Amino acid sequence: MDERYQLQVRDRLKKVQLEIQQILDKVGDPERNVRIVAVTKYIGVDEVRDLVQAGITDAGENRWQVARAKVEEFPQLQWHFIGPIQRNKARPIARHFDWIHSVDRWELAEDLSKFAQELGKRLNVLLQVNISGESQKSGLMPEEVASLLKDCNEFRGIAIKGLMGIATNTDNGERLRQEFRLLRTLRDDLQNSAGLHLPELSMGMSEDYPIAIEEGATMIRIGRKLVLKEGLAL
Ligand SMILES: *Cc1c(COP(=O)(O)O)cnc(C)c1O
Repeated sequence: MDERYQLQVRDRLKKVQLEIQQILDKVGDPERNVRIVAVTKYIGVDEVRDLVQAGITDAGENRWQVARAKVEEFPQLQWHFIGPIQRNKARPIARHFDWIHSVDRWELAEDLSKFAQELGKRLNVLLQVNISGESQKSGLMPEEVASLLKDCNEFRGIAIKGLMGIATNTDNGERLRQEFRLLRTLRDDLQNSAGLHLPELSMGMSEDYPIAIEEGATMIRIGRKLVLKEGLAL
């Protein structure tokens, strides 16, 4: 147990929570719940224990091998899978995670649904959309989302709760805003046209979460800014 790190995380968490509320007040949406997902891929089991002590309730991982020891050790956390999923990892991921942010193809949705059903659970799923327009990034093209949503209707083991996007790595605020707005508009259109309930928008990371919240995020995935150890020289 590292009390100094615990305090550091507690302090950073409080600052982010305060900042969220200030932004929500500013945009006139003070009641919106924005969930902070602490991305733990940078740290080990001991540090995650400190995070739990510091009051973190939701944690995110993007690779099964890196996540494994942590999700097994801390089942009391809500675990969010946020990375690409290889087919042979879908079963343990369905078992240990509560939310999957990165579904972008039918076969994966089918596998996750099947494994979740075997476990008697219903997985919360977000469809990942490529909002940056960069071809090497994963995610559905915006125009593909409606069709996958429709196909997922038949899968009893998953519940589609919304959309996830990763913005371009840039400090161009206007560009970031446009990308987040694209995801929000897409969600709004799908809700209006298909009568679906898609309450969740997972968007925003350490460098861009304030803009994402302004544009409607309900989940922000924060790694470095929340969990990296710094200034430990005494
Ligand atoms: C690593 C990661 C994050 C967190 O990134 P930070 O810049 O460290 O906040 C968020 N989302 C995804 C998909 C990631 O892989």
